[in-house]
Amino acid sequence: MEHELKDITIIGGGPTGLFALFYAGMRGATAQIVDALPEAGGQLAALYPEKYIFDVAGFPKVLAKDLVRSLAQQASQFHQPMHLGQRVTGLEERDGHFLLRTETGGFPTRSIVIAAGIGAFSPRRLPQACAEPWYGKGIYDVVTDPMKFAGKRVVIIGGGDTAFDWATQLAGIATHVSLVHRSDRFRAHGATVSQFEADVANGRASRFVFHEIADVLRAPGSDSFSHIVLRDVKAKTTTEILADVILPMLGFVSDIGPIADWGLSFEKNEIVVNQLMETGRTGIWAAGDVTTYPGKLKLIACGFSEAAIAVNQAAHWMYPEKKVSPGHSSNMGIFGQKDD
Ligand SMILES: Cc1cc2nc3c(=O)[nH]c(=O)nc-3n(C[C@H](O)[C@H](O)[C@H](O)COP(=O)(O)OP(=O)(O)OC[C@H]3O[C@@H](n4cnc5c(N)ncnc54)[C@H](O)[C@@H]3O)c2cc1C
Repeated sequence: MEHELKDITIIGGGPTGLFALFYAGMRGATAQIVDALPEAGGQLAALYPEKYIFDVAGFPKVLAKDLVRSLAQQASQFHQPMHLGQRVTGLEERDGHFLLRTETGGFPTRSIVIAAGIGAFSPRRLPQACAEPWYGKGIYDVVTDPMKFAGKRVVIIGGGDTAFDWATQLAGIATHVSLVHRSDRFRAHGATVSQFEADVANGRASRFVFHEIADVLRAPGSDSFSHIVLRDVKAKTTTEILADVILPMLGFVSDIGPIADWGLSFEKNEIVVNQLMETGRTGIWAAGDVTTYPGKLKLIACGFSEAAIAVNQAAHWMYPEKKVSPGHSSNMGIFGQKDD
């Protein structure tokens, strides 16, 4: 399916892409987002929807999923489409504009803002074949609603920040939390590890170091599991523990994919941009975590600023009569305001 020609197509619907979509609308440019994930929000929605963020200007603290909701709401006032679940796989030039391709569609566009973050990403899956059939049926690699695990015996696999964050948070909600890790070295914040040790001491949690999953045991007469078998990777012994839910927190795999072949300049998987967010290829800008330049900070706050720069540059490039500077939104007729 080929979509209608837009002024700006934003690759990536993370915080940077969502703000770019808003900004494009504010500048009177037609725009759209194309994102590989099934929902908008990038890392915030896929990796830490339930975590508080403390360093977004204007919010003393905000849940990641709430920030995504606000960004999407802000962008939606211009009724620009978001095409989700579509990974951009190709770029062509045709009749004086670009054509971005996904597996199912073509997106003709005058300009492009790449806000692809760390690339199209997916949670790293458990390597054990016994786990595979249980994905979505007791094994979940993203926690969207912690209350879903109230009254459950939860097993968390991993030894990093996400594993410990969820272990401590769920210890107050689940019946019991077991943390399973293949080594005794944790890559998590010391304070969270100590907090978890306190949960172990008061019986709300258990810790299995040098262990991995060996089997998932179906509950008799049911399509769910009730126990899992853990293997001690050093002693080569096995232990059976009660489990209703397994949460693998093994990080994620990401892939910048075909964007790497578009003739842009890359440094360690990041697109080198100048202070105008130009990529070196006319008509293509980049913003957010996918970019690098001296002093670059991979923060939501920086992505917002870069999105505004990229979109304003693109708007001026396509329509030279539009100034680069957007003026002040507080004075704009588009929001029902009047000039000072
Ligand atoms: C656990 C954790 C906690 C964090 N806490 C904070 C914090 O407190 N404060 C802070 O400022 N930052 C924090 N960050 C960092 C912050 O999340 C990132 O800086 C931010 O998400 C970058 O936004 P982005 O839109 O540039 O990229 P992303 O959020 O990575 O979004 C990029 C989007 O592009 C899509 N995409 C990529 N390639 C393609 C393709 N080929 N086709 C289609 N779509 C594609 C992806 O699916 C993704 O949705 C944290 C990160 C993590 C992992």
